Amino acid sequence: MKFGFDIDDTLINLREHAFHLYNKKLKQTVELDVFQNISRVEIHEAFGLTDDEGKEMWNSSLEEIYYTSCPIFPGAVKALQALVNAGHEVYYITARPKEHGERTKAWMKQQGFPVDDKRFFYGMQDEEKLDIIKELELDYYVDDKPAVLDTLVNGSTKVYVKDQSYNRHLQDIPRIVDWTAFINTILNNNE
Ligand SMILES: [Mg+2]
Repeated sequence: MKFGFDIDDTLINLREHAFHLYNKKLKQTVELDVFQNISRVEIHEAFGLTDDEGKEMWNSSLEEIYYTSCPIFPGAVKALQALVNAGHEVYYITARPKEHGERTKAWMKQQGFPVDDKRFFYGMQDEEKLDIIKELELDYYVDDKPAVLDTLVNGSTKVYVKDQSYNRHLQDIPRIVDWTAFINTILNNNE
C-alpha cells in the first residue's frame, strides 16, 4: 500500500513550536490554552497581530520555526517506520516552499523518519496536493488542513485528518488523535 503524509502539524508539532518562539520573540506570555483554542491554522491572532503582520512574522521566522527543535508527535516516527517495515511505501507531501524542500528532507531524516528521496514532494500550493496524491495513486493520505482535506474527500484515496483545534468540524473524516493507535489499526487491517 502507498501511504502519504503531510508534515507540518500532521507528523510534527510545528504551530505549537512556532507559538513558543513567538512568545519569546515578541516578549509576550500568551498561555498555551489560548493557543490550543485557536480555530484557524494561523497563530498570530493570539499575539494581537493583524493578518498582514502575522504573515510577515511567520515568513521572517521560517528558518527558526523549521530547523530548530520542533517536537515530533508521539509515536509518529515509529508509526512510519512500522509501515516501511511491513512493506508499505511512505510518501511525504508538504507545501513548504521550494527553497526549504531539500533541507526539510534532511531534517526529517535526522529525526529518524524513513525517507526515500524519490518519495518526498514539496513546494506546491495546498490545493495542488490533490494532483500529486492522484498521480501517485496513494491508498492513504493524512493531513491536518481543512483546505487540503476538502479537496480530497471525494477521491479514491482514503483520507485521515490529524486532530487539531481548527479541524474538528470535519466530522466525516476518520481522525488520528494518537499515532500509535492509528498504526495498530492500519497494520491489523492490512495484514
Ligand atoms: Mg499541515
